[in-house]
Amino acid sequence: MTLAIVLIFRKAISNLNKSTYAPTKLVNLAGCLVLMTLITYACKKSTDNGITNTSIIKTTTSFIDSAYTPYKPAISTRWDDNYFYVASGGIPAHNMMVGITNWQQQVPIPQFYTGANSWTIPLQPVYATIPMNTRTNFMKGAIAIAVNGIPIFNALNNRGEDSYLIGELDNWGGHCGKGDDYHYHAAPLHLSTISGLKPIAFALDGFAVYGSKEPDGSTMQSLDTCHGHIYNNGVYHYHGTSNYPYVIGAMKGKVTTDPLTLAPENQILPQAFASPLRPATTPLAGASITAFAATGNNAYKLTYKIGSAFGYIDYRWDVTNKYTFIYTSITGAVTSSNYQR
Ligand SMILES: [Zn+2]
Ligand SMILES: [Zn+2]
Repeated sequence: MTLAIVLIFRKAISNLNKSTYAPTKLVNLAGCLVLMTLITYACKKSTDNGITNTSIIKTTTSFIDSAYTPYKPAISTRWDDNYFYVASGGIPAHNMMVGITNWQQQVPIPQFYTGANSWTIPLQPVYATIPMNTRTNFMKGAIAIAVNGIPIFNALNNRGEDSYLIGELDNWGGHCGKGDDYHYHAAPLHLSTISGLKPIAFALDGFAVYGSKEPDGSTMQSLDTCHGHIYNNGVYHYHGTSNYPYVIGAMKGKVTTDPLTLAPENQILPQAFASPLRPATTPLAGASITAFAATGNNAYKLTYKIGSAFGYIDYRWDVTNKYTFIYTSITGAVTSSNYQR
């Protein structure tokens, strides 16, 4: 193809040199340029492993918004020509933390996923030439944003371990990171009880993530290595399942990675970021979280058990973002810390 373009171009130049009638020369050259543009476009369309990017329909904002609407006003949405934005405080409506048996002493606190730090979903997905595998990528940051405004991280933690299998996750598939930021690592399939057959999340490449059924209620079709398939309407989507990789095996769509991060701890941009409050905490050997409950406005109590003894964290914050933590160890020793955000 390149050779053909070169030959056509050479012919045009030689015609220009030979011809003595200037307007004809220009017409010839203009015609060749149009032809070359068409050829170049044809080449572009036929590459990319036989998949044409132009075949992906731009996602309508009303479709995405209908998936997020059941969780408003705890979350809010907006969009422009290129992106759909989800603003969220990072705390889901469901309970959290109970069921964790491998705990790093982090607890959920509100986050500021708002304004320029909102979650960002591209409206025009583009197929990746080579989908980036989640086994060897994205061990930092979110890979999808659930319809309740909670980010979904890689199924593997930043040490490459399956978070669910090693007991790091609560009964809802989530836990808190170093910034005390609540997020899922497993598929939040429980959202289907509110969302019905609508998507339970959108991946950061722009494709929807459905629960265990197809959008028409039929049995889930077989999944490719990315953990999705092209549906009857010609549009690709992922599915959440209860086994690895749970949500995304590889990013079907093209994503931009943060140049300051290296695989496997690379992350997708744009990305919303957590706002850490406390210094990073350490694993508490043998602890399992048995209860977690609100004890008032902006106040929670977490109960954990080691052997037959219980320990507690009571924490609260006020309107000035002053946080108070009271730690009661399994021996009954009480300490407290204050932090200002
Ligand atoms: Zn995590
Ligand atoms: Zn499907």
